[in-house]
Amino acid sequence: MSPAHYADLTGEQTVIRVGAATHVGRVRELNEDALVAEGLVFAVADGMGGHAAGEVASTIAALTLRDLSSRHPLRSDDVVDALRESNRRILKAATAPETDGMGTTVAGLTVVRTGGADHWCVFNIGDSRVYRFLGNRMSQITHDHSEVRELLDAGLITPDEAERHPMRNVITRSLGTDPAPVPDLWVFPPHPGERFVICSDGLSNEVSDRDIMVALRTHDDPQAAADALIEAALRSGGRDNVTVVVVAVESDQDDEEEGDTSPRHDLIST
Ligand code: MG
Repeated sequence: MSPAHYADLTGEQTVIRVGAATHVGRVRELNEDALVAEGLVFAVADGMGGHAAGEVASTIAALTLRDLSSRHPLRSDDVVDALRESNRRILKAATAPETDGMGTTVAGLTVVRTGGADHWCVFNIGDSRVYRFLGNRMSQITHDHSEVRELLDAGLITPDEAERHPMRNVITRSLGTDPAPVPDLWVFPPHPGERFVICSDGLSNEVSDRDIMVALRTHDDPQAAADALIEAALRSGGRDNVTVVVVAVESDQDDEEEGDTSPRHDLIST
């Protein structure tokens, strides 16, 4: 059973269970992904750069975000500030020749207070992802900051072409490469029974959305789901580091309604 975290998400105490796993994969020598699953801060960072520099960048981002877990209540501005602080620390650490040019993606989920109530806050820079699963439906909340996504949005390539596109690993936003990178943020109310998958592209490039959904349907326990997703990525090649955090809001309802369960989340411009 995954460990329980507690939040006042719905006016009464809500139990949140979390599963987390990371793997170097079958090809790479180093795991340059990092993750946070502490208190109510859940995130994945996928580092890039020569030698071990990517690992330095993703670890700085993870540790900076982890500090948010001791602060309550948070506001969405605190999340933006933590991302900016991560960026400053990465740029500061990138002055040595071996860390020059290092950077990292980050995608995650935390709880912020807005309008007097606790809400989920999903944040993203780069092409790590956050998916939301409820009532047998799954949607990707984050938009990849990648050249392929931009080409797709512009209607210049098809979704099929995007999956095989040679530029599919080129990201357009990251921490450590820009003095002031702009994160995307979504703030929306929690719902009993919903689950989230936060992952690096080592999962989403190897495992289809449909197979991610199947793993969530098969494994109720978040740790079992996270382990199954890592296994699926390794089975399909494991060409990159793969990291997964699964967050589940425990439901006291036996049957999750099939009605309007589509996520109501609007992109907040920062
Ligand atoms: Mg990766």
